[in-house]
This record gives sequence, structure tokens and C-alpha cells, in this order.
Amino acid sequence: MIPTANGSGSVSVHCIAPAQVIRGSGAWNEAQSQISGLFRNPLLLGRSSSTEALRSRLCRDLNATGLTVYQQNLEHDCCELDLQRIQNDFSRHSCDGVIAAGGGKVIDAGKLLADRLEVACVTVPLSAATCAGWTALSNLYSPDGAFERDQSLRRCPDLLVFDHQLLLKAPARTLASGIADALAKWYEASVSSGSSQDGVIQQAVQMARVLRDQLLIDSLDAIREPGGEAWRRVVDACGLTAGVIGGLGGARCRTVAAHAVHNGLTQLEACHAVLHGEKVGFGILVQLRLEERLGGNRLAAQSHRQLLPLLRELGLPVCLDDLGLGHASLNQLQQVCQFACRDGSDLHHLPFEVTPGALMEALVGAAESSPVLP
Ligand SMILES: [Zn+2]
Repeated sequence: MIPTANGSGSVSVHCIAPAQVIRGSGAWNEAQSQISGLFRNPLLLGRSSSTEALRSRLCRDLNATGLTVYQQNLEHDCCELDLQRIQNDFSRHSCDGVIAAGGGKVIDAGKLLADRLEVACVTVPLSAATCAGWTALSNLYSPDGAFERDQSLRRCPDLLVFDHQLLLKAPARTLASGIADALAKWYEASVSSGSSQDGVIQQAVQMARVLRDQLLIDSLDAIREPGGEAWRRVVDACGLTAGVIGGLGGARCRTVAAHAVHNGLTQLEACHAVLHGEKVGFGILVQLRLEERLGGNRLAAQSHRQLLPLLRELGLPVCLDDLGLGHASLNQLQQVCQFACRDGSDLHHLPFEVTPGALMEALVGAAESSPVLP
């Protein structure tokens, strides 16, 4: 949601959902006619070598429907260096649209490219680690993976192809990461927007609560039985519903400390192999600790007690050691805290002041069990 400039705050522009979503087992095949209706000469963007064979298959399928596909890969994360290079290739090959097939970084880059070039965009998530396939938002990083800023886009993708058969091929680790990222919707939206008087925002926050409850119930079953009913509900929750909440709630249903901690952690090279949602899950624990210790919020302590064992069972990092930062210097950890506490950081949507020193304590103590108070 983009607030308009009329100053009263009563008008807002929403980018709620992709124009069309095709989901379920076999969605990719089903989507072929819609895709060939959008463009003739698309750029197919990917990155990971582990999905290369899959993307070659997608490319063959598209060529078989009469499209001329130009394949290109990101070399880094979604960064200006890659975007400039790929934009030049896009023009040189006279492409007329973008298909982004991969994880969040690839999809963010594809959406941003299509937005800048004003061409159609199709997103094909190859894991359920993210709701990037749904949203009108891209995160920009430096070439070496440090978070720089997020960028609102003019609209959501023209088509989201959410094919459960493709998602089944992704490593279990990506699903656990998506679960943590989707859980953060509730912990962050309830803080940033829980007291909003706007009905649509209130409904988005309640949707985040229902999403959390479903993930608390289904997540472990989903990981145990890929392709089962719980798995299908969980991938839809992470890849689709989390996006609906972002679309409805928009800028007023903001991220808070969990994502600010993520953004801080990306500043360290040692953390670059840790997935987005893995950092965010750790960030939720840190946020709850801050709410408990600095905000005196006993519900936050209870949430921390509930969440910590689940994140552990899902194999998600819950402490600095798990994040590969067991031997990080004080200076490096201070860098994380300074970045997370910088002016304009979403961390300041917490209803109390957080200093870098207080954040450091919460980072170090993220996995300590909360005492049950009488
Ligand atoms: Zn996220």
C-alpha cells in the first residue's frame, strides 16, 4: 500500500494480489496458455545451479508453446550490478517480459526489472521459502549480500504460478525458512498495527493471527510428510497467504524488529549462507525478548516459550552459534546492532526505545528460556 500525498492519510493505493494465481499440482502446465498470452519473447531469470535442470525444463515447455525464451541468471542477490547487466541483455535480445523462476532473490530481481521496464511479469516460485511471488515489493542487496533497502513496485505480478510439484523438489530447509518468515507476519503486524483503527488493517492483522495458528498446528507434519495435506496447507500459507497480508495491510502493516534483525545480520559475511527466513525466525525470538525485557510484556515471554521449541524442532537457528556467529567478534555484533538500530529502521516501530546495547543483550540471550512468572 502506497500512502498518497494528500496529507490527510485517508487515501491509500493498494497492490493487493497478482492479477491471476494458478496454484496446485500441475499449475505450470495449466499456465502455459496464460503465459503465451502475456508475451512472445520472455527473459527467464534464475540463479541456483540446483534448479538449473528444472529451469531448462521450463524453458523447453515455453519454447514448445511457440515462445522464444532467453535464459539469464543472477550472479549475486537482487542487486543493482546484476539488474543493470540483465537489463542490458533484455534490450539486446528484444525481450518483452520477465519470468522469474527461483527463490526470493530471483523473484525480487525479476519483479523489479519488469517494473522498471514496464513489461509483464510472471513469478514461478521454486520453493515455499518466501511470499515474494505474490507481492509488489522487492528487497535490494549489495553484490555481497548486505541488505540495502526495499522498493515498492507499481503492481503485483501479472501471473503467479504456484505449482506444488515444483515446490516439492525444494530442500526441506527452504520450507522451514518460509514458515519462520510467515510466522513473523503475526509477531510484527500485531506490534506495528495491532491498535490500528482502520478496518482493513485490522482484518489483515487477524489474518496474520490465523496464519500463525495454522502454522503452529501444521508445520511439523508438513516437514515430516512432503506432499501431504499439512504440507499443502503450509506451502500455501507461506507462499500465498503471507502475501495477501502484505498486500492488504501494506505499508501500515509493517515489519518490525524481526526483519530489522535480519537486515542487520545480512551485514556480516559469515551469515550469508543463512536463508532469509532463518534469520527472520531468530529475529522473532530477539523481538519477543525485547518486548518482554524492555516493554514489560508478559505475553511476549509466553510467545517466546511457545516458539523456541518449535523453531528448534524445525531445525531453524535460534542462537548466534546456530547462525555461524559463535566466534563473531564484539565489533561484528555491534555492526549488526548499529544497522538494525539505524535511523529509519523498522525496529523503531516497537512502542519503546531500543539502544544498540539493549539489542546486543537480546541477540546474545535470544535462546534463553523465559522464566515463568507467578
Ligand atoms: Zn521476510
